[in-house]
Amino acid sequence: MSNKQRTIEAIIAPPPPHMVGNGFRVHSFFPGGRLIDKKRMSPFFLMDYGAKVEFGPSNEPRGVGVHPHRGFETVTIAYHGRIAHHDSAGNNGVIGEGDVQWMTAASGLLHKEYHEETFSKTGGLFQMVQLWVNLPAKYKMTSPKYQEITNAMMGKYSLPGNGGTVEVIAGEYNGAKGPASTFTPMHVYNARLKKGGSIEISLPANYNTGLLIIEGNAVINGENTPADHFVLLKNDGERIAIQASEDTIILVLSGEPIDEPIAAYGPFLMNTWKEVEDAIQDVNAGKFGVLED
Ligand code: MN
Repeated sequence: MSNKQRTIEAIIAPPPPHMVGNGFRVHSFFPGGRLIDKKRMSPFFLMDYGAKVEFGPSNEPRGVGVHPHRGFETVTIAYHGRIAHHDSAGNNGVIGEGDVQWMTAASGLLHKEYHEETFSKTGGLFQMVQLWVNLPAKYKMTSPKYQEITNAMMGKYSLPGNGGTVEVIAGEYNGAKGPASTFTPMHVYNARLKKGGSIEISLPANYNTGLLIIEGNAVINGENTPADHFVLLKNDGERIAIQASEDTIILVLSGEPIDEPIAAYGPFLMNTWKEVEDAIQDVNAGKFGVLED
């Protein structure tokens, strides 16, 4: 494998936020905008970023009520605050700070996503990411499943010179392996760099790759990248060089594209419009199960 530096295609400022339900104030980086091509970050179809926001105390947990998904996986990463999840496949859990929930909707389920009760009552700082990871046609109608990935389960690679730690959620970095089981090859890391720390990451050129600056400020392939910005890299090389200008957290996303047609409508991510219509009919017919609000 050659080891050419990837060119930065765009450094994208957070789009104006919108609310998902009453609990998630998110900047939708893609699809849309600069990433109008729905496959530009494939297998990652959607990225909603809940930048840091302070929620006041509330006795009624904020969030988003019962809704369906089919054809993909939702991956929720909590940086601040705690999120509770329940689904019609019988899974539930709490995503704590630093934890990840990897939910495979696949053939379809209903779920609800709320601020965890104790967090709601006290309020506090909230920051999260939700990714929608597409599934290839052959896996879209497999059974739903749920992976609760605590921070302790993640592969950890310590950078030399006390430069920080790479937490591997999925895939692999320098021998540290992520616990997530995925349907297509991908790497998902949190690079937690100390001020002055640096890291080199080499990812296959054909893997769509982007970096979300969760915290801090870094120089990436020579360009200054502030917090809350998304760095889209071209598929023209492998290597990314990052130097942290201050204590910095970067979410690294890189995956082999799924080269199949996309028919996306609301909470459904299928290959054809017929399949989307079937999904709507199946929800209406109760085939996604039952979940109380
Ligand atoms: Mn959802």
